[in-house]
Amino acid sequence: MAAINRADCEARDNTDPLAGCRGQFHLPESTIYLDGNSLGVLPLAARERARAVLDKEWGEDLIRSWNKAGWWDLPTRIGDKLGKLIGADAGEVVITDSTGINVYKAVAAALQLVPERRVIVLEGSNFPTDNYIVQGLVQQLGQCYEIRFAEEQELASAIDETVAVVCLTQVHYKSGRVLDMAELTRRTHAAGAISVWDLCHSAGALEVDLNGCQADFAVGCTYKYLNGGPGSPGFIFAAKRHHGRAQQPLTGWWGHAQPFAFTRDYAPHDSVRQMLSGTQPILSLALVECGLDVFLAQDMASVRAKSQQLTQLFIDLVQQRCPQAGFTLVSPSDSARRGSQVSFHHAQAYAIVQALIARGVIGDYREPGNMRFGFAPLYNGFCDVWDAVEHLVQVMAREEWRQEQFNRRSAVT
Ligand SMILES: *Cc1c(COP(=O)(O)O)cnc(C)c1O
Repeated sequence: MAAINRADCEARDNTDPLAGCRGQFHLPESTIYLDGNSLGVLPLAARERARAVLDKEWGEDLIRSWNKAGWWDLPTRIGDKLGKLIGADAGEVVITDSTGINVYKAVAAALQLVPERRVIVLEGSNFPTDNYIVQGLVQQLGQCYEIRFAEEQELASAIDETVAVVCLTQVHYKSGRVLDMAELTRRTHAAGAISVWDLCHSAGALEVDLNGCQADFAVGCTYKYLNGGPGSPGFIFAAKRHHGRAQQPLTGWWGHAQPFAFTRDYAPHDSVRQMLSGTQPILSLALVECGLDVFLAQDMASVRAKSQQLTQLFIDLVQQRCPQAGFTLVSPSDSARRGSQVSFHHAQAYAIVQALIARGVIGDYREPGNMRFGFAPLYNGFCDVWDAVEHLVQVMAREEWRQEQFNRRSAVT
């Protein structure tokens, strides 16, 4: 392959149809931010929105805002917007709670749909919280369920006629590998089981077609590629055919058929609102809409195309410019099988990531020995990729990672 240079990257930025989106976000000075897969950047509109929610809706209108500002319907109204990015119909997604709590609700609801079955299939190498939550649920259900761990290659044979629920993350948090959602959901259904998909690293990164795949339930974050803000509430999707059939177990008043009837006994709402449990964090929830609006003005096919180009450029440049540095590609080399992040393994990965951060190139580290870089097509450009690799070349050439301060571990890696 011909050597790539910075002018090539500038040319690609100049013809990038998504280039205009960058100006809708706050990007800190002298920073190349390649961690939007962990915490997305601030949409400029979120500043105005936060001020309005604080000063007008809370400060002035107070309790009236539940009706007047539409606070009561925020989980479904913003959920419908998010649904458009993941192939859900209106009325199938609510924004609420954390991803982990939504995993709990979705898996518990799914188990009720196949009451005679006892096996839950999980990917052992998944981001741990999903599996921890299911382990807690199984323990709570009196150990009558069995967890069957399988890695990617073992999934097909693990999904058999004993399985109740298959709970998988489409894009692997560490490697960025994409599972074939359509095929795995088909297999799950052929075995008579129910699918729960985690879209934490998919939503806003690639095209997802939940209904096209006939997915049953899905969950995910809004603070990663969707730029909802630190700790912003997650989302949960329940296919319409399951509404009124599967009940999630955190049966709080927000999921009640008539919350303001204040009746003694719980009765589930027959819509996706049943997935709600209690009063929503309005400040944080309201801001989720700002990032979504930037996405909704684009089409996910363009976002995905640019994401594949950015990750491929990064891989090509690291391999061309640091061939002897000891980096091994952990992510799939085929961009069709890769999400929007790239991981390389290196024995000194932790210190290298810290040295890059000191230079303003922000990626992150994941055990064992993975340097992980996320590429957010709405605000990362091709020159960002070039410049990040230029810093990496210098960190390696000057052995900056040897410095003592880069070898001390912080609480958050
Ligand atoms: C980021 C991530 C989470 C985060 O869960 P929280 O409950 O929001 O802390 C969960 N699962 C996966 C697969 C993730 O990537």
